[in-house]
Amino acid sequence: MTLWAALTIVLLSIILMEIFAWAIHKYVMHGIGWGWHESHHRETDGPFETNDLYAVCFSVIAAALFIAGSLWWDPAWFIALGLTIYGLLYAFVHDGLVHQRWPFFVKARGRYMKRLVQAHRLHHAVHTRDGAVSFGFLWAEDVRRLKARLKAQNPVLK
Ligand SMILES: [Zn+2]
Ligand SMILES: [Zn+2]
Repeated sequence: MTLWAALTIVLLSIILMEIFAWAIHKYVMHGIGWGWHESHHRETDGPFETNDLYAVCFSVIAAALFIAGSLWWDPAWFIALGLTIYGLLYAFVHDGLVHQRWPFFVKARGRYMKRLVQAHRLHHAVHTRDGAVSFGFLWAEDVRRLKARLKAQNPVLK
C-alpha cells in the first residue's frame, strides 16, 4: 500500500469514528446502553466509572483490527491506527480538557477547544437519559444554538 493510501485510511477512520461515536452516544448510550453511561452523568466515587467500559470495548475492537491487519488485510491495520488516534484525541478532549481526569491540569487553548469544552458541559447539563444536547466529542455545534435547544428540550432548566 502507498503512503497516501495509508494516510487517507487513517484520516477517514478518524473522521468516521467521530460520526460513529456521535451516533453511539446519542442512540445507544442515551438509549439501550444508558445502564453503563448513566454513571458518567452522575457523581461517582473513585477514579473509574461503569461508562469506561465503552472505552474498553473500543480498545478491544482496535486491538482485534491491529491483529487482523497484521495477519490478513493491511488496510485493517491503518483503520486500527485511526481508531487509536481517535481514542487518544477523545481522552485528551473529553477526559482531559472537559472532565480533568488526568493527574495534571489540562488547559483548553484557542477558540475551538474552548467551544468543545463548553459544548460538552452543556451535554452534562442534563443528568437523565433524555433531553441532552451535543453528542459529539471532537466536533461541536455553535454553543448558542446548543443552549437554545437545551432550553427548548428541557423547559424546567433555567
Ligand atoms: Zn452522555
Ligand atoms: Zn462527559
